[in-house]
Amino acid sequence: MDIKDKKILVIGAGISGNAAAKLTKELGAAEVILSDSKAEKDLKWDFAELREAGVKLVFGPQENSLLEGVDLIIMSPAVPVRIPLIQEAYKRGIKVTSEVELAWSLAKSPMLAVTGTNGKTTTVTLLGMLMRTRYPNAGVGGNIGIPLCEEAVKAGENSCVVAEISSYQMEASEDFCPHIAVMLNVTPDHVVRHGNLEVYQQMKEKMFAKQTMNDYLVLNYDDEKTRGMAERAHSQVVYFSRKEELQEGAFLQEDWLTISWQGQVCRLCKVEDLKIKGGHNVENALAAALAAYLGGAVIPKIIEVLKSFAGVEHRIEPVATVGGVPYYNDSKATNTDSAIKALQSFDDHIVLIAGGDDKHTDLTEFMTKVKQRCDALILVGDAAERFTKEAVANGFPEDNIYQAGYSMEKAVEIARSISGVPQTVLLSPACASFDMYSGFEERGRDFKRLVKELLK
Ligand code: ADP
Repeated sequence: MDIKDKKILVIGAGISGNAAAKLTKELGAAEVILSDSKAEKDLKWDFAELREAGVKLVFGPQENSLLEGVDLIIMSPAVPVRIPLIQEAYKRGIKVTSEVELAWSLAKSPMLAVTGTNGKTTTVTLLGMLMRTRYPNAGVGGNIGIPLCEEAVKAGENSCVVAEISSYQMEASEDFCPHIAVMLNVTPDHVVRHGNLEVYQQMKEKMFAKQTMNDYLVLNYDDEKTRGMAERAHSQVVYFSRKEELQEGAFLQEDWLTISWQGQVCRLCKVEDLKIKGGHNVENALAAALAAYLGGAVIPKIIEVLKSFAGVEHRIEPVATVGGVPYYNDSKATNTDSAIKALQSFDDHIVLIAGGDDKHTDLTEFMTKVKQRCDALILVGDAAERFTKEAVANGFPEDNIYQAGYSMEKAVEIARSISGVPQTVLLSPACASFDMYSGFEERGRDFKRLVKELLK
């Protein structure tokens, strides 16, 4: 992608938009305009550095006049291409691209890209660690919250770039072509922006549309939607599976994570050797190990990292053991699907802290799991009343439900007072957090702080 002496318009002043603006200016663009439809005071960033670097900032209504003389538009993933300004740009024949595509085109080393509805951050974090055993300067970024374009440039030559890709980031991408593409799963999510599941799937499929036989497409064999993508692949398809022993790929064999490739079978480690819990994390580990192996990481190093990787903050994260009872922070579980995954990851006897900003989705499946797995339910936030009703309606004993109002402190206090060996205390809210916190990160950290205070 030619940047030098070009006039560039970056749309969306968020983490990746800001990074793209700064980088393109550094790389010699003649002019860089960063535009956001919000007012500057409504954005949480300090734009001083960008201003100093010579980036022109335009806040508020995005008039067509912004397009005058523009050679290239770079979209931040937060902004859909359907906005009038971008539709007008397409009409005028102006090239529109995404921040991840910019990253890909600037990278001097191969890219390993991971997408899917769930498990991206965990898999990318693990894959990044695996690849750094081979390429210490490997870049890791994308949807994970670190701008990919910066990481791609920093990684340099003889290295690699590990990218977390969301469907949003694919919208404005046309030529993006990672050397290794990993598809974890496709379930209905984010359908609102893309309109329907087909469009959402098409976005994800853009990730491998430009691949050739020199590239790899790593697919989840157990997920019908991703398995079917093989029909549309132009690259070498390699599967991972938690459920079936495959001829080739990554799979479980008698509880061993195993890679079979070109006639060689390598056992990596047992499921119980993984620190990350739950069947879904076995899938993430298989996917990451396979992609790392195809990307050049060696088996002994893969084994070492698999055994040491303790997961990502707020995703079934071990916090402390208090009086023999382990406490886990799964604040990232902002919907029932994720909370169910967490409940499936433990033996029974869970003391579950749930609730928060209610998403008003159906609770039947979740409460059925709660009934099977939980000894007690401690509820917080806006959702407490509905969750209580639904729990009782699904046969969970009312006496085992506790109310903590809008206080995590109280929830933790109750958990401590009612729990004992062999129980586990798990915060897995199945709700957003905005009734009490700025986001799931703040909620998780508050929970961890309170649990650690119990140790004092
Ligand atoms: P993402 O970045 O795609 O949101 P994370 O790694 O942050 O994924 O995991 C978020 C949640 O998704 C986890 O808490 C877990 O409930 C669920 N999850 C993780 N991996 C998988 C998987 N492979 N399949 C299904 N659900 C998963």
